Amino acid sequence: MRLLIPRAVACFLLAAPAAALPAPGADAVTVIRAGRLIDGKSPAPRRDQVIVVRGNRIESVGDSNSARIPEGAAVVDLSGATVLPGLIDAHTHIFLQGEDPAEGGYDVQILKYPLAFRAARAVVAARRALEQGFTTIRDVETEGAGYGDVGIKEAIEGGYIPGPRMFVVTRAISTTGGYDLEGYAPEIDVPKGAQLIDGPIEARKAARQQLEHGADWLKVYMTHRSWVDAQGNFVAQPTLTVEELKAIVDEAHGWGKKVACHAYAGIGLRRALDGGCDSIEHGLDLDDAAIAQMVKQGTWLCPTMSVYYDHHAPEGTPAGQRDRKRVALHGPSLRRALKAGVKIAFGTDVGGFSWSDPMAREFPRLIEFGMSPMAAIQSATSGAAEMLGMSGRLGIVAPGAWADIVAVPGDPVADVKELGRVFFVMKDGKVFRNERR
Ligand SMILES: [Zn+2]
Repeated sequence: MRLLIPRAVACFLLAAPAAALPAPGADAVTVIRAGRLIDGKSPAPRRDQVIVVRGNRIESVGDSNSARIPEGAAVVDLSGATVLPGLIDAHTHIFLQGEDPAEGGYDVQILKYPLAFRAARAVVAARRALEQGFTTIRDVETEGAGYGDVGIKEAIEGGYIPGPRMFVVTRAISTTGGYDLEGYAPEIDVPKGAQLIDGPIEARKAARQQLEHGADWLKVYMTHRSWVDAQGNFVAQPTLTVEELKAIVDEAHGWGKKVACHAYAGIGLRRALDGGCDSIEHGLDLDDAAIAQMVKQGTWLCPTMSVYYDHHAPEGTPAGQRDRKRVALHGPSLRRALKAGVKIAFGTDVGGFSWSDPMAREFPRLIEFGMSPMAAIQSATSGAAEMLGMSGRLGIVAPGAWADIVAVPGDPVADVKELGRVFFVMKDGKVFRNERR
């Protein structure tokens, strides 16, 4: 992670009170006693471990009977609990709030709320993620809030507000006819929730603009509308051409960045893979060819299962049919992908549902469709970290890693719902939450 504004400069620019800045203590030592340690990478938990944290890094991890406790260290006793790496949610939307259609839905966010209001709610969302033990998020577009995610990330990195480490995509990219807002009189220019491009030149320009303004990843919508056709098949409208996507991927890769593609099924999904995307988001209907291509290209799948179980439109309506078909296809797709060895990154799509709902509800869904509890945990720790290019630094409790550490009371391998009971959160070596002092 890079700090976009050096702290001293930020202080000067924003005239922040000194109290708002994080306390120094770069060499402060904290020792965590872990009754059970799931380190994010090893296949099995280890009992009675001692984790030594110096500053914002993990210095050592060892058996409690042989570990040396540095003098003067603060000790956090989690010997009755399970300790894990800080969790990673690779698909969030802090600028969405699970909009209720009855209250105007998605459109109202963009048409009626000032950006400052949306940013204020995004601050609350970021804090919610951290409270639940998600110390890192990949936030996959601001939905009309421009580069607001870059600002929130800077505020977190500067220590002004609490929140997870953020990988941001800024505005996201789709095509004309490929994103909301829609359904208004053609005479009225309505704002769009993503940056719309047509043609490889505009595609590359949008990529450059977003990267210039702070995107860590790019997000591309490769499918938009979806429906069930007369034969009962699930169909998704494709958006960008392969040439358009290739321009974006080429640009992003040149900057050392990656591209996440929202893709449900069919032509758009195929184009996403042919265009060389790095992760498929959702992937509701993955056929054998798509799965084989993902394995071959090393493409990640961020399945976001649970969000599709919310708020189905009434049965018998076209939208209701579509919503039910999505769920019917999604589980078997994940099963096939797992069987073939597709790499899975945990993602919830929170913001698509309310931030008051638990993000950990995704874990049981992953297990329902074939993941072991440990595999599900690793998809939200070392797996997601690998996708983010952060192996060894995030998603693992091991020497040299950043000190992002959480704890739950029971054993999440025996009951994955434990991951919804995070009571201890350390981020970057600082305890943010500890309900069992
Ligand atoms: Zn999403």
